[in-house]
Amino acid sequence: MHDDYNMTGSPNAVLVTFDQLSLTHGALAMADPKRDHVLMVESHSMFEKRNWHAQRIFFFLSTTAHFVEELRGRGFTVAYIRAASLTQGINEFRQANPGMPIRTTTPTSHAMCSLMIKLGIELTPNNLFLTSPEEFTQWAKGYKSLTMEYFYRWQRKRLNILMDGDSPVGDQWNFDADNRLPPPRPKKGQPPHLWPEPLYFEPDAIDREVLLRVSEFQTWGGTPDGTWATTRSGALRALEHFVTHSLADFGPYEDAMPTDTWTVNHSLLSPYLNVGLLHPEEVVHAALTRYEQGGIPLSSIEGFVRQVIGWREYINGVYWFFDSEYRNNNRLNAHRKLLPLFTDSSQTHMNCMREVVADVEKRAWTHHIPRLMLLANLALLTDVEPEKMLDWMRTSFIDAADWVMVPNVIGMGMYADGGQMMTKPYAAGGAYISRMSNYCGPCKYDPKKRTGADACPFTTLYWDFLDRHRDQFAGNHRMGQQIRGLDRLSDLPEVRARAQEVLTALDRGMM
Ligand SMILES: Cc1cc2nc3c(=O)[nH]c(=O)nc-3n(C[C@H](O)[C@H](O)[C@H](O)COP(=O)(O)OP(=O)(O)OC[C@H]3O[C@@H](n4cnc5c(N)ncnc54)[C@H](O)[C@@H]3O)c2cc1C
Ligand code: SF4
Repeated sequence: MHDDYNMTGSPNAVLVTFDQLSLTHGALAMADPKRDHVLMVESHSMFEKRNWHAQRIFFFLSTTAHFVEELRGRGFTVAYIRAASLTQGINEFRQANPGMPIRTTTPTSHAMCSLMIKLGIELTPNNLFLTSPEEFTQWAKGYKSLTMEYFYRWQRKRLNILMDGDSPVGDQWNFDADNRLPPPRPKKGQPPHLWPEPLYFEPDAIDREVLLRVSEFQTWGGTPDGTWATTRSGALRALEHFVTHSLADFGPYEDAMPTDTWTVNHSLLSPYLNVGLLHPEEVVHAALTRYEQGGIPLSSIEGFVRQVIGWREYINGVYWFFDSEYRNNNRLNAHRKLLPLFTDSSQTHMNCMREVVADVEKRAWTHHIPRLMLLANLALLTDVEPEKMLDWMRTSFIDAADWVMVPNVIGMGMYADGGQMMTKPYAAGGAYISRMSNYCGPCKYDPKKRTGADACPFTTLYWDFLDRHRDQFAGNHRMGQQIRGLDRLSDLPEVRARAQEVLTALDRGMM
């Protein structure tokens, strides 16, 4: 924080963007309602440039509208300006308030940072994360590669979370091996596994008003249906609900893709964390407090803590560690258009893809493994252009933001950075999906087959992908096992031919 924050006593304006809805962190934390103004701009170019998911536009507009109401309730003068662009909104404010300095919390994207600097807006460090970009760079300097596991251990020690002196609680840093259970498959006569019930958020008057506005924009996907909270109090309820009902089994089923629940034991907290309604510190604190009360396995609390202080902070660190050109990486030279099934789940017979895209259509969310091992995996195996995938995901997910999408899609999902972030691509065939889900049973394709009309497209494309990129992966010792598997295939010519048929059918929305 700047010590010299507004020592003059004259009014400042605090520009609050859609992802900075926090009274306790960032530039607003130091603002005085009796003196300072708040500026918010609804930029039409942002909303009209793309075909956003209706749930996402609604979430942005409604969380902001509730936040404005809260600020006004606390005595702030809020200028909420609807303008053609953010720049135009800021200019309008400046004309109405000549000479008033404007500051904002450092934005979470390269593009917004450059714009703020260009417009002469003062930046307050962004403390909506636990790790600053400078701290991440300091950590990264000590390592040859950006291995998340080492970053995570560094975080555990630095933040003193789940530590017993210098050792991790339970003498183990990582319980990943315990946390890879497939969906429970009860035997005949046994009751089905009971999954936590998600919360429903009853729309209030502001939500209803915003809902009417959503139809002004060109959108896709299901209408807002109470899946997502639009207030801080709703986000706190979601946090409490998670630690009470889902945390205990979070670990074991973290990677599972059962078809009788859309939430599994995931927290559903990413949208609130990413717009500032929740802070990672309070999320981790609530989970640790619940753990200390007993009944939460160490593998579950460790698994959850790893997501929040590990993965989330790591991804943000990676975003700032690389420059703004990182997003344009396309090292696998992938140039296919987005497959039609990504925007219309009825354009595929692949049961896994139909179900997961239908989930995204409905709620703008699916958990990490379908994002990585279904959506991004299919885009990777079919050579979809990384930028096209990035664009689709950014407009389709409730929790999307540049800092989080770019490394997750370009680095983790599509391996488009050639391994700057991950040591090997997350490419998988039908066998993995069959093991970790219940999708394959009713599917018309067979996950074990790689050739023939009923071969699983994932399985065919997986081998074809390895074959096409064999030279690139040959020097990667972590890919050795896969390449040796490829060398053992006796039917590679048939696999290649089938892959061409599959790709053509996917392009036509007929697979
Ligand atoms: C291709 C791809 C795209 C993704 N896009 C996004 C995105 O736009 N926004 C987003 O917040 N997450 C994204 N993720 C990460 C992750 O899938 C989501 O954070 C998670 O599914 C959100 O659901 P949850 O809150 O129930 O998470 P939980 O499983 O309950 O995990 C708890 C928290 O950990 C954090 N977290 C875990 N993994 C990651 C990660 N890889 N990156 C960042 N945070 C993580 C999230 O804040 C999450 O809320 C993406 C992952 C992949 C593979
Ligand atoms: S068989 Fe293949 S396409 Fe069908 S559900 Fe399984 S993994 Fe998906």
